[in-house]
Amino acid sequence: MRVLITGAAGFLGSHLCDRLLAEGHEVVGMDNFLTGDPQNLAHLAGHPRFSFIRHDVTNFIFVPGKVDAVLHFASPASPNRKSPYGYPNLPIQTLKVGALGTHHALGVAKAHGARFLMASTSEVYGDPEVHPQPESYWGKVNPIGERSVYDEAKRFAEAMTMAYHRYHGVDTRIVRIFNTYGPRMRLDDGRVIPNFIKQALRGEPLTVYGDGSQTRSFCYVDDLIDGIYRLLLSDEHEPVNIGNPAEFTILELAETVNRILGNEGGIVFLEDARDRDDPQRRCPDISRARKRLGWEPKIPLEEGLARTIDDFRRRLAEA
Ligand code: NAD
Ligand code: UDP
Repeated sequence: MRVLITGAAGFLGSHLCDRLLAEGHEVVGMDNFLTGDPQNLAHLAGHPRFSFIRHDVTNFIFVPGKVDAVLHFASPASPNRKSPYGYPNLPIQTLKVGALGTHHALGVAKAHGARFLMASTSEVYGDPEVHPQPESYWGKVNPIGERSVYDEAKRFAEAMTMAYHRYHGVDTRIVRIFNTYGPRMRLDDGRVIPNFIKQALRGEPLTVYGDGSQTRSFCYVDDLIDGIYRLLLSDEHEPVNIGNPAEFTILELAETVNRILGNEGGIVFLEDARDRDDPQRRCPDISRARKRLGWEPKIPLEEGLARTIDDFRRRLAEA
């Protein structure tokens, strides 16, 4: 296949490029570097099956040549208001890429008769009342909260994707991604794993927002990419959760990172740093992925963290 990947210079987009190239496909990467980093694609320079177009997908997208699949991953992804890369500080860009960007990416798929896969998120469930979250749960989202620019854009993007599927017959897929981590995450986008690892490597206290009782379920990037690849090859048009159902409190995560890295800096609780709509519990129900894709995650948290730490250590030394 010849595959267009929007958001290719980002954390997940760059891993997707690698996987698709490894499977023998041709990849056209597209990104405007809003939150991504050209370094994430540097190793692909000169690859005979890889090309790159610098473009903001909120504008009309033109791709020369044929396109067999569009993987739409462009969007800021960090909720952290303290980072310039967090979507609370990129609110209009986030709404536009979820709405206009998705519309344009779907337009490419329609024009080329290509299959389409969009990166949705566990945030469509908001601060959930149902636990763990199955795809059938419609969510509890604050439409005007700090996270709404992201959550509502993704909900709109899902609706737009289903409209193109139902009305135009586009061959679409929707993956609802739960917290994923691994090499190439931005060190400064404020997401919890980069923050904790960076702080622990410097011997500083880890900044737990609130009392740390909120939970997340962390999926290592290779597992996620495998689930997405299987979804791409499937005929599944309904949304599919991909994530690791092993659930931890943020305090447990902080203690694990400190233990692995032998950090004696401890933990500091920042009561006011949590935003009002920060979900209290999050864990995917992955029955659908198990049944329809034969997928489940394989890499446990400690192993994934060790691999991530190696990458962060190297990048911090080079910086
Ligand atoms: P990221 O910030 O590393 O990557 C996003 C990429 O999109 C960046 O390279 C950025 O420059 C690019 N981009 C943003 N706006 C653009 C625009 N208008 N035109 C072109 N490129 C643009 O984030 P990520 O973690 O790799 O997330 C990728 C996708 O997966 C996002 O759609 C995100 O919502 C989704 N997602 C990620 C997670 C996760 O845990 N990593 C969880 C749920 C959903
Ligand atoms: N968090 C934290 N310390 C940090 C960064 C984040 O305690 O330095 C918390 C945050 O409040 C949230 C959880 O960790 O409850 C996960 O945050 P992240 O930004 O990674 O993404 P989210 O899952 O909220 O989208």
